[in-house]
Amino acid sequence: MREGKLYIGGKFVNSSSRKKFISLNPANERPFGRYQLGNKNDVDKAVQAAKKALPLWKKTPAPKRAEILFEVVRLLKKHKERLAKLEVLEMGKVYSEATGDVQEAIDVFEYMAGEGRRLFGYTTPSELKNKFCMTIRIPLGVVGLITPWNFPIAIPAWKLAPALICGNTCVLKPSSDTPGNAIELIKILEEAGLPKGVVNLVTGSAKDVGEPIVKHSGIQGLSFTGSVETGKFIVANAGLKKVGLELGGKNAIIVMEDADLNLAVDGIVWGGFGTTGQRCTAASRVIVHKKVKKELEERLLRRVKRLRLGSGLKRSTDVGPLINEKAVEKSEYYTQVGKKQRAKLLCGGERADMKGFFFKPTLFTNVKPKMRIAQEEIFGPVVSLIPVSGIGQAIRVCNGVSYGLSSAIYTKDIKNAMIAAQEIETGLTYINSSTIGSEVHLPFGGVKDTGNGREAGIEGIHEFSETKVIYIDYSGKLQKAQID
Ligand code: ADP
Repeated sequence: MREGKLYIGGKFVNSSSRKKFISLNPANERPFGRYQLGNKNDVDKAVQAAKKALPLWKKTPAPKRAEILFEVVRLLKKHKERLAKLEVLEMGKVYSEATGDVQEAIDVFEYMAGEGRRLFGYTTPSELKNKFCMTIRIPLGVVGLITPWNFPIAIPAWKLAPALICGNTCVLKPSSDTPGNAIELIKILEEAGLPKGVVNLVTGSAKDVGEPIVKHSGIQGLSFTGSVETGKFIVANAGLKKVGLELGGKNAIIVMEDADLNLAVDGIVWGGFGTTGQRCTAASRVIVHKKVKKELEERLLRRVKRLRLGSGLKRSTDVGPLINEKAVEKSEYYTQVGKKQRAKLLCGGERADMKGFFFKPTLFTNVKPKMRIAQEEIFGPVVSLIPVSGIGQAIRVCNGVSYGLSSAIYTKDIKNAMIAAQEIETGLTYINSSTIGSEVHLPFGGVKDTGNGREAGIEGIHEFSETKVIYIDYSGKLQKAQID
């Protein structure tokens, strides 16, 4: 079995708890890795180490910090296949998607390394003579990064790369379902030459590691991806830290009567069942014009029935397992809720008869917008078809949920496309493409209960830095703004 340690002050160490926990391979339920069960004491040590490393890292010129990030890119490329395989074994997604996850980490480190020679501020004229005004970007300080299991390397990378290029030092807590990839990423950062203490990693439970990070007075910024419940806890307990939250979605694909249905089916299958429905941007609702509902149902059903479940390492597999037993129970539970509320089950709706956390790809139709399966995040391979009679109703249904992360519309009519682009309340809208597929040079995040802040792109830099204003008065006399 793999063994993983904490990483504090540049050393791999045991937890002071002397306890360990294991992760499972979700495709066969066998133990996969054994990790340190960290505690508050370990978090304190990690924060101290990050604090100690901060002055030097902050003073290191950003283009020099970037050199280390470029080296991370080189190493990630070199180890791409090994990391992807590890991800399949601990998280369960199919291999091709796992390589995509590693590629996303490569992309974000490359993009953020490039920022080392930008980190732009701006200048603007002063209202007074012989006075100069400009802005620069400064790091927050020590930042806490709390990550989930569904993108076990990309999400830590999305947070680490901008945090580091901006000059912050970090304490990372990965999900207990998938600490293995985060530990491998740390090893790569170390090999790339990151100074001791700049990044620290503490594995362990939400209660003993996550909560002490959220509440720690030595931490100035938090970046979190996970559930709404945890997001609410963070907002209530983070004090005055700068907080970025990405809390999931109930994303919809709208299919208009003029849509290319083949394209729409491709997008629904990819968005609904890719990563076994376990993406924050997964398409769990299909809002379909009633004129094409029957046709879409038939085509979708044919495709979904053909999806093959299995280990993500097998080339023939389309859909991998869910992450754990609790996730299977959640999909089972929502299937029962859907049936009880009189949605029509077209296929799936039950565990697959095989070892591992497998759940059959599930389609519901005749779903009403307010039914629970159309409102609550299931995070499994469960897709609900909701019939509507026009673009206005489609938009209202799309917006009638608490979340606001991603959305998509399939249409050939530019008017429908533009209405959707402007009126859907989400952070991302795709036209004639599925709800998933973010690129790292554009901002990512949502509105409403999906949280706040944006990751990646230039806005990822803003997330992990503050603007500082510098006034230079070379008049040689006291000049008073607003008065002279
Ligand atoms: P998910 O359902 O995606 O696992 P969670 O919000 O439960 O979403 O977990 C995401 C990450 O947040 C994990 O690393 C988890 O350990 C951590 N976490 C969960 N609850 C808390 C909490 N109260 N305080 C800090 N971190 C937490």
